[in-house]
Amino acid sequence: MSIVRILDEHTANQIAAGEVVERPASVVKELVENSIDAGSTVINIELEDAGLKLIRVTDNGSGMSAEDAQLALARHATSKIRSAADLQQVVTLGFRGEALPSIAAVSRLELTTRLSEIPAATRLVVEGGTIHRVEEVGAAVGTMVSVADLFFNTPARRKFLKSQSTELGHVVDLLERLMLGHPGIAWQVRHQGRVILQSAGNNNLLEVISEIYGRETARAMIPVQWRLEGQTIAGYAAQPSLTRSSRRWQAVFVNGRHISSRLVSDAVVEAYQTRLPIGRYPLVVLKLDVPPDLVDVNVHPAKLEVRFQNEGLVQQLVMEGVDQALQAAQSPVDFWEPAEATAPEETSPVTEASPEPPVAKARADQAVREAAVTPLFRELFAPANEVLQTKPARLPSESAWPRQVAEPAPAPIKPEPAEVKEISGQFADLLPLGQFRATYIIATGPAGLYIIDQHAAHERVRYETLQAAAKEAASLSQSLLFPVTLELAGEDREVLLRNILLFRDLGFVVEHFGGNTFLLREVPAYLSGDAPDYFPDLLEIVREQKWQVSSTRLQDEALKMAACKSAIKAGDIMTLAEISHLLAELDRVRQPYTCPHGRPTIFRLSPEELEKRFLRT
Ligand code: ADP
Ligand code: MG
Repeated sequence: MSIVRILDEHTANQIAAGEVVERPASVVKELVENSIDAGSTVINIELEDAGLKLIRVTDNGSGMSAEDAQLALARHATSKIRSAADLQQVVTLGFRGEALPSIAAVSRLELTTRLSEIPAATRLVVEGGTIHRVEEVGAAVGTMVSVADLFFNTPARRKFLKSQSTELGHVVDLLERLMLGHPGIAWQVRHQGRVILQSAGNNNLLEVISEIYGRETARAMIPVQWRLEGQTIAGYAAQPSLTRSSRRWQAVFVNGRHISSRLVSDAVVEAYQTRLPIGRYPLVVLKLDVPPDLVDVNVHPAKLEVRFQNEGLVQQLVMEGVDQALQAAQSPVDFWEPAEATAPEETSPVTEASPEPPVAKARADQAVREAAVTPLFRELFAPANEVLQTKPARLPSESAWPRQVAEPAPAPIKPEPAEVKEISGQFADLLPLGQFRATYIIATGPAGLYIIDQHAAHERVRYETLQAAAKEAASLSQSLLFPVTLELAGEDREVLLRNILLFRDLGFVVEHFGGNTFLLREVPAYLSGDAPDYFPDLLEIVREQKWQVSSTRLQDEALKMAACKSAIKAGDIMTLAEISHLLAELDRVRQPYTCPHGRPTIFRLSPEELEKRFLRT
C-alpha cells in the first residue's frame, strides 16, 4: 500500500494558512489589499479585541458576482493573473489566490458582495473553510468581509499570539503604511467602536503624514521628486533635525506596494550621510515607480520583499532623489528649544543605541560639557512667545542635559527655501564680530545674527577637503620613514589578520611580523602624518562590526577622524582674519550646516525673532 498521499483541500488550506495568516495583522493586510485591488475609494475597518474577536473590512470597490464570490474561496482562485507569464507584469497587490481560502480555513468568515450592475448582493457564510450558506441579500455596492474568532480551530497558532496590545500594534503599524501608500483612499479604522485612525482620501500625502505622525513632523517634511531613466521617486523626507532611533520610520512603496528593502533603506541613510549622527535614522515616506517587469514581487508569500532587476539604478535613484531634496532645503537652524519636538516615543538614549567611534564619542562628551554652561543661550533662543511665560519647570534639569544634547535634534526647522537662496554662498559676506568663550564665532549679516561652532564648522570644511583629496589621490599609500610597531593580542590580533586586505584597500599597509607584533609600513597619502594614530580606532570599528564594514565606509571614518583632528578646537583663540577665512571656506562646502558627525554647525537668530522678543511688532 502506498504511503504517499495527496492532501485533501481542507488540510492543504490549513497548511497554507500557516504561511499567509500568522496573526490578525496578516488578515487585515490581505483583506485590505483585496479592497485596494478592487479599486475602492473608501475602506472601513472594524476591529474587536485587536482583531482576534472580529476583523471587518468594508469597501466600495468593484464587488463580485455570486459565482465569483464562491470561486474566490477556492484555493489558487484569482482574477488577477491567468498564467505565470502575467507575473512579469503584476500591478495588483494580490495575485496568488491564497488569502481568502487560507483565512476562511482558520476562522468564521462572512462575505457580502455586490456588483454595481446587479441589484442584489450575495452573502456567504463559511466556517473553518466549509461554505455553510449562500444567500441573496440587500447591500451596497462593494464588498464586506467579516472574520470572526480567528484561529478558533487552530489553538496551537492562537497560543503563539502576543498580547492584544502587541497584536493591535502590528495592525496599526500595517494600516498606517497602507494609508501612507494610498492617500487617495478615505480610510477609517475603529477598535472597540472607537475611531483610532482616519484620513480624508483627498490624495494629499502630507495630510496623511500629519494624521499619522503629527503636525510637527509633517511641517518638517521636505518634498522629494526625482526621475532617473524611466524610474521615479516621490514623497517626503524629514529634515535631518527630526531623527529617529530605528529604521522603522521609513515607509517605502514600490508601485503602490509597501515593501521592506534593505537596499532602499541603505540608500536613504546614505543620502542623509553626514547630515545625521551615527545611530540615528531619518523618517521618510517614499514612493518608487519602477516598470513592473523590472521588479519581482513574488519572492515571499507576504510579498514584503522585492527583487529589483537593476539594483544599482534603484540605489542611485533613491540616493539622488533624497539628497537633492535635502540639499535644496538646507538652512541654518533658526532657534533652538528643549528637544520636545522629537517624537515622544524615543526614550532610548542615543549613546546606547549607537556604536559611535571613540572620536565622535569624545566630541559628544565635549559637546555635553560645553552645553552645560550655556543655559542662557538656550533661553535666549527659545521661541519668543515661550520666554514670556517661562516657568521654571520648563527648564531642563541638570540630569536631562546630556540626553538632550546628545540628541542633536533641536528645533523643528521651518523650511524656507526662498530665504535659503539668499543666504547660501554668502558666509563670506558676514561681518565677524568675534568669539564667545573661544568656542563660538559670532557674526552678523542681513539675515540675522549667526553663532557658529568653530570646531564643528571647520571640521566640515576639513572633511570635504579631505574627501576631495582622497578621491584624487592617485597613489594611495605613502611609506612611513619609521614603521610603527603594533602589539595586538587576542581578538584584536585576529581581527587585523582577517582584515589585512581591507586595510590595504584603504592605504594602510600592515605586515605581520610574527606573534602579536605587526608593523604599520604605509598609510593613506591623503591623511596627514597623524594617520598612524587613527589605526587603532579604525581597527576598533572593524572589530565591533556593528555595520557591514566596507572599505569606503572605513575610509569615510578615517576622513572624519582626520577632519576632527586637524580642525580648530573649541578654546582656540581666532583672529578676525582667521574667522573671515573660515567663513569664506564655508561657502565652498556642500553641507555647511552639519559637521561630519551630523551635529549642527550654525545657529541663526533672525531680525524678526529679535523684534518679537523686544516686542517691537
Ligand atoms: P488574490 O488577491 O491573490 O487574487 P485572494 O484570495 O485574496 O487572492 O482573493 C481571490 C479573488 O477574490 C481575487 O482575485 C478577487 O477577484 C476576489 N476578491 C477578493 N476580495 C475582493 C474585494 N474586496 N472586492 C472585489 N473582489 C475581491
Ligand atoms: Mg488578495
